[in-house]
Amino acid sequence: MSDVVVIGAGISGAASAYELAKAGLDVVLVDRFGPAAMASGWTLAGVRQSGRHPAELPLARAAVALWPTLASELDGETHYRRGGNLRLARTEAEATVIRRLVDEQSAAGLEITLLTTSADVRAVAPALSERVVCASLCPSDGSADAAASVAAFVRAAERLGATLRFGERVIRLQTERGRIAGVETDKGSIPARHVVVAAGIFGNELIAPFGLHVPLEIPMVTVLRSAPMRAMLEQVIGVANADCAGRQEHNGRFRVTSGLKSWPGGMLDVAGPEGIRPRVLPTAESIGEVVRLIGEVIPAFQGAEIEDIWSGLIDLTPDALPVIDAPDGAEGLVVAMGFSGHGFCLGPITGRIVRDLVVDKVTHLPIAPFGIDRFASLSGARAPATLHG
Ligand SMILES: Cc1cc2nc3c(=O)[nH]c(=O)nc-3n(C[C@H](O)[C@H](O)[C@H](O)COP(=O)(O)OP(=O)(O)OC[C@H]3O[C@@H](n4cnc5c(N)ncnc54)[C@H](O)[C@@H]3O)c2cc1C
Repeated sequence: MSDVVVIGAGISGAASAYELAKAGLDVVLVDRFGPAAMASGWTLAGVRQSGRHPAELPLARAAVALWPTLASELDGETHYRRGGNLRLARTEAEATVIRRLVDEQSAAGLEITLLTTSADVRAVAPALSERVVCASLCPSDGSADAAASVAAFVRAAERLGATLRFGERVIRLQTERGRIAGVETDKGSIPARHVVVAAGIFGNELIAPFGLHVPLEIPMVTVLRSAPMRAMLEQVIGVANADCAGRQEHNGRFRVTSGLKSWPGGMLDVAGPEGIRPRVLPTAESIGEVVRLIGEVIPAFQGAEIEDIWSGLIDLTPDALPVIDAPDGAEGLVVAMGFSGHGFCLGPITGRIVRDLVVDKVTHLPIAPFGIDRFASLSGARAPATLHG
């Protein structure tokens, strides 16, 4: 019998597997596809504190403190770069939003400044156009390479003794005398005393038998990646109304995204060098929109050669906050899902919280707002769905 099965080798599950293996537990990491096959590969991979909900800010700050030393800790590349995050205003109405953001987040103790004119913005990011009228700048934000970071966690977990089972789908969780006893997969069963569900948009089908449910909306986001271009943008950029975002990767490629679009529901399983991977196709309209919106703020992008295009799905909760919880009545179960478009940055700290919940049943990190039972009492409109890098 293993100590723990972690379901999902995205950033949340991979970091959890690493932390649990580091704590000396016998870990099995299972993924129906492979590492970073879904949101953690589709992502923009911004590592950002700015623009966070107050409940999430302590976790984002704790995660940002871990990112700089992660590559050496894991002995694997993350391509983490602390280049800053710029949130841009293109109109006077957006400028009002940005000024309010800077006021609120400075009051919350974040190092964030207002670049008050177009010239001020272009002094720190010359590739941006004169259409940008002002911006917030959080210099301690940044980005990393998603596939590399997840791979680094997976390899570090494996070196610490974790067993990797990729291309294997968990069908249901098993229980015995009211507590977790393992999982049943499409290839057999894996007995274990604890199970971590870090299965992104598919989490609900695994926790439903426990009477648990995270009310998810699943929008999609169009992503374009260019061929390498000359280095011109240090920061991750978002815009006040979140209709586009982007950054330049360590290899010169631009990775740029649309805002959130409704997802008609199609997903293909595509065979490739890494095995079967899920693929969601964007519409021509959303591709054209990304090109236009990004081209308006980064004129050089209009000449970019596009190497790849895909859509990513978001596990969006009603309050746009994640679930990180060891639910009552399901002894041995930990749930980490619903990261609502901001879970990449949080990955390293999610891993530590999951380890705490499995090993000690409590964590010193402030996770009360992320309980799975909060949705029953949640009223009012859904939180605005945003993606900001
Ligand atoms: C376009 C886009 C841009 C984004 N930009 C940012 C950003 O800039 N900054 C940021 O912090 N976040 C961003 N996010 C969000 C972030 O990428 C996600 O919140 C994060 O990657 C979620 O990781 P995860 O491990 O929880 O889920 P996932 O990466 O979705 O992993 C879940 C894994 O579970 C596996 N799985 C599911 N069901 C089963 C099963 N039954 N059996 C076995 N395996 C199973 C899947 O194959 C998958 O690999 C973005 C997301 C998208 C799509």
